[in-house]
Amino acid sequence: MQETNDRLAPDEGEGSVCTEDGATIAAPAEATAGTEGTTGDGDAQGVPSEADLATSRELIEFIRDCPSMFHTAAAARRRLEGAGFTYLPESAHWDVRRGGRYYTVRNNSSVVAFRVGSRLDADGYRFQMSAAHSDQPTFKVKSVPELEGPGEYLRLDVEAYGGMIDHTWLDRPLSLAGRVLVRTANGIESRLLSLDEDVLLIPSVAIHLNRSVNDGCKFNRQVDLCPLFSAGVLRRGDFDRMLASELGVRPQDVLARDLFLVNRTQPRIWGWAREFVSAPKLDDLQCAFASLLGFLASENERDVSVWCCFDNEEVGSNTKQGAMSTLLLDTLTRLNAALGGGDEDYRRALALSFLVSCDNAHAVHPNHPELTDEANRARLNGGIVIKEAANQHYTTDAFSRALFREVCHRAGVPTQTFANRSDSAGGSTLGNLSNIQVSVHAVDVGLPQLAMHSCYETTGSRDTALGVAALKAFFDADLAIEGADRASVG
Ligand SMILES: [Zn+2]
Repeated sequence: MQETNDRLAPDEGEGSVCTEDGATIAAPAEATAGTEGTTGDGDAQGVPSEADLATSRELIEFIRDCPSMFHTAAAARRRLEGAGFTYLPESAHWDVRRGGRYYTVRNNSSVVAFRVGSRLDADGYRFQMSAAHSDQPTFKVKSVPELEGPGEYLRLDVEAYGGMIDHTWLDRPLSLAGRVLVRTANGIESRLLSLDEDVLLIPSVAIHLNRSVNDGCKFNRQVDLCPLFSAGVLRRGDFDRMLASELGVRPQDVLARDLFLVNRTQPRIWGWAREFVSAPKLDDLQCAFASLLGFLASENERDVSVWCCFDNEEVGSNTKQGAMSTLLLDTLTRLNAALGGGDEDYRRALALSFLVSCDNAHAVHPNHPELTDEANRARLNGGIVIKEAANQHYTTDAFSRALFREVCHRAGVPTQTFANRSDSAGGSTLGNLSNIQVSVHAVDVGLPQLAMHSCYETTGSRDTALGVAALKAFFDADLAIEGADRASVG
């Protein structure tokens, strides 16, 4: 079906919601100025334009390309290579020039790309950076994968990776993706694996066998959430035989694997007015994608623009390739040295730098508005969300918030605010963790979504395009930061 929007009368939009610019979404003359070319012909009611829908469809393609963090890194690398970026292995000598585009990778699951301005100010340059994450909550297959029985059944032995909503994983065809280490004539080699088939399912218990199922259900992950692999045809050892046949190697040459369950439900744009996008892994592939598109579409010859996508955010980021690792620090210090900068230059650059930490945000829930703060909450299709927390689990402070708002305001991208209810702990993300290694002004932002950490999440069909526009504006901006006193946004 053609995705046109002419079925929605202009006055059928939602009630007005305040943006940060004090305008309403319904009449944001100031807030939407200059949105042509970014959100296209969408109107002020929040009706998605063809350009918004095209960006959402591109997001869906990206998500299909990213069934695991290893595939996310590979998909990002393909886009970077297509845009003329050169791969700098961490083990190689780095030759970095002004005007050049480069990227490096750690563990094949985290990527840092950077573009060096051709008119970099030798006396005081800066980094303008974004960070998102490549992983999402799912289940990881254990090294000895098969559980025999009961009866003829064969099940898989899996454990939780991150904090998922358990029940959303039931009764869905599932697949597998990740990496497999195989023996070769010369040693061992890592291979990407993504099965293009339904091979698993975690069945619910029938209501007749559990009459209290609708009273609320708590799952024991060791007992209740083992996926079914065979009803009797397959035997112990067939899991590796399946992988081997997929990879074209002998079963005995499958040495180790990092494999994760994949929800096979297809992403889609939906709603009478095409307002919604539902897909697995919107947290945080939507931000990874939007920031990558904004980064690649931007031009800035006076800074070093840096795009980061870190693995392991969902398990705390404290791994060798996570946001708490030395990956960003190592990349920045090495490129500084390759440009001829010394320690002093690096520290001066950090003082002038800015990080936008991009991880999706909670939209107000349609059935449970009481779960979000009454004043500081976001809605779908309402603009990029600036997240703040007094406990500093989000990096946002008044300085970084003001600067990012100004960038968005100038680009005509509406902003919204998210703050936790004061009686709830809320979440955290990667900005404050990466700031341990690389301490710079930083703001935490995200795109609004529902059902975070469900295996099928929902966002607005305008939101990705708004995210691209905001991040492009940030990377384009000629920022001049003076301590925490003042900044200009050129
Ligand atoms: Zn996230």
